[in-house]
Amino acid sequence: MPDRVPLVAANWKMHKTIEESERFLAEFLPKAPASGPEVVVCPPFLSLKTAVEHCAQSRVRVAAQNMHEEAEGAFTGEVSAPMLLELGVDGVILGHSERRQHFGESDGALCRKVPAALSSGLEPILCVGENESQRDSDETEGILTRQIEADLANVADDRLSDVVIAYEPVWAIGTGRTATPEQAQEAIALIRGLIEGRSGEAAAAIRILYGGSVKPDNAAELISQPDVDGALVGGASLDPADFAAIVDAAS
Ligand code: PEP
Repeated sequence: MPDRVPLVAANWKMHKTIEESERFLAEFLPKAPASGPEVVVCPPFLSLKTAVEHCAQSRVRVAAQNMHEEAEGAFTGEVSAPMLLELGVDGVILGHSERRQHFGESDGALCRKVPAALSSGLEPILCVGENESQRDSDETEGILTRQIEADLANVADDRLSDVVIAYEPVWAIGTGRTATPEQAQEAIALIRGLIEGRSGEAAAAIRILYGGSVKPDNAAELISQPDVDGALVGGASLDPADFAAIVDAAS
C-alpha cells in the first residue's frame, strides 16, 4: 500500500489583500515544516502571484480557488488553467460548496473542470459533501456517491490518484460545528470505497482530506483517522499561528 503524504490546505476564500497575504506568509513560512505534510495555500486570484514568489524558496505550494474548464474564450470574469500555470500555481480547488451554493457550480461543470485541471498540470482539490438536511434524512451516502461519480466521470482510472478529494460536510463549513472523527472517517472511507470500485491502486493512493471547522485543537484527532489524509482549512487558516498549529498536527 503506498504511503499517502498528508496534505493541509488553507482556503482563504475572499480574504486578504495582496499586502495581507504577504504579511501572513512572512509570519507563516518560517513555521512551515521542512519535511512531513505537504502544505498548500489558496489565496484569492489577485494574491496568487505574490504567494508564488514568497513560497518559491519553501515547500509550500500555491493553489487557486476556482478556474474555468476552457483554456480561453468569451467567459467574462473567468480565469483558465494556462493563466494559473503561467503564475507558477500548482493546483486549484474545484467544487467548493460555496461555489456550488452561491455561484451555481454544477456536477456538469465539474466533470469538465477536473480533467481540464489534470491535463494542464494543475492538481485539483475536488470538494464534495452533503448539507444538513441531506445528512438528517440519511442521504449522505447517495449525495457523495452522486458527486464522486459525476465529478470524476471524465478522469481516466490511471489519473484518479492525481486528484485530491476534500470531504466537506456543508453543515460544518464556517459554522464551528465539526464532524466527529468517526463521521469524517466513515464518509471518507465511503469515498475511498467508491474510488476502489474503479481502481484499487487509485483508492490506496488517492488523498482524501476532511474540511469543516478544523481548528488547532481538533485537527490531530481528525487527521489521525485511518482514511483521513489531511485537512482543508477555511477560517482557521487566516491566522498564521493557528494554521501552523494545524499543519503541526498533521506531522
Ligand atoms: C472551507 O472553506 O473549505 C472550510 C472548511 O471552512 P472552515 O474551516 O471555516 O469551516
